[in-house]
Amino acid sequence: MVRDIQAKVLLSRVKGPDPWFGLYYNMNLYRGCQHRCIYCDSRSECYRIDGFDQEVLVKINAVELLRHELPRKRVRGTIGTGSMNDPYMPLERERRLTWRALGTIAEFGFPVHILTKSDLVLRDIDLLREVARVYAAVSFTITTADDALGKKLEPGASLVSERFAALAQLASQGIYTGIVLMPVLPFIEDTAENIAAIVERAHESGAAYIIPSFGMTLRDRQRAYYYARLDEHFPGLRQRYEQRYGERYGCRVPQAGRLEQHLQELCGRYGIPRWIEPYPPQPVQRARPAEPESPRQLPLL
Ligand code: SF4
Repeated sequence: MVRDIQAKVLLSRVKGPDPWFGLYYNMNLYRGCQHRCIYCDSRSECYRIDGFDQEVLVKINAVELLRHELPRKRVRGTIGTGSMNDPYMPLERERRLTWRALGTIAEFGFPVHILTKSDLVLRDIDLLREVARVYAAVSFTITTADDALGKKLEPGASLVSERFAALAQLASQGIYTGIVLMPVLPFIEDTAENIAAIVERAHESGAAYIIPSFGMTLRDRQRAYYYARLDEHFPGLRQRYEQRYGERYGCRVPQAGRLEQHLQELCGRYGIPRWIEPYPPQPVQRARPAEPESPRQLPLL
């Protein structure tokens, strides 16, 4: 189901320095997500998005808000989109909120980081080039190199092979683009073969970075949803999770250190950094209002 809503504010300030992408503002044009990733953290109760998988809310006044908010910002910092929903979910094809927002961001000269699992981002390549005059980075979340497994884990998203192809196309057009390799799901994706396959295809596609994290988070209703999908697709695995992680929030994969080392070696071999070059936030220089003309001296009588 899709419902239009009016939002009050669009950009929110990121609390504290963001160690992953150097984000300064967050922008969510939608609420809810059609990609239905089985591990999605946005289902957690703390975000209060009821019916996350049943309904997507469309902020129909988002671009008007952006036009109002951007000229009032004192800091030109990176606007991140894609953490609570995917800005290129299927609905974007017809609603074009991301497309319109990028046009506005380009007009006001702000930097952007996009996180997505969709090749629809290719539609906006010309706009991304304009935004990139200041700064644009497009990160694809890729946690397996296998299309069939990806379809089980991220049923509504583009196939993994389509994401690699999109990455290759963006890279060939000079857009700064790379891979976010997280979450790495315990007992499913935490193999040396999977990590090697991702790095090799990242290299072939021209990825400029790979940002990894070897584990996942689990809490309240996100955990309940994830375990129900494990029962469906990976019978018996829930019990292993329960034994190893109990009620824990942070769930690192058992061989995290070894896999980190493996990734480091592979990235070293191909010269791929494991971090992104962020845009440093800076004060917005506004044109000073013109000085009023100095009053003319009255001619002495
Ligand atoms: S794309 Fe991101 S926000 Fe959407 S369901 Fe997947 S993890 Fe959640």
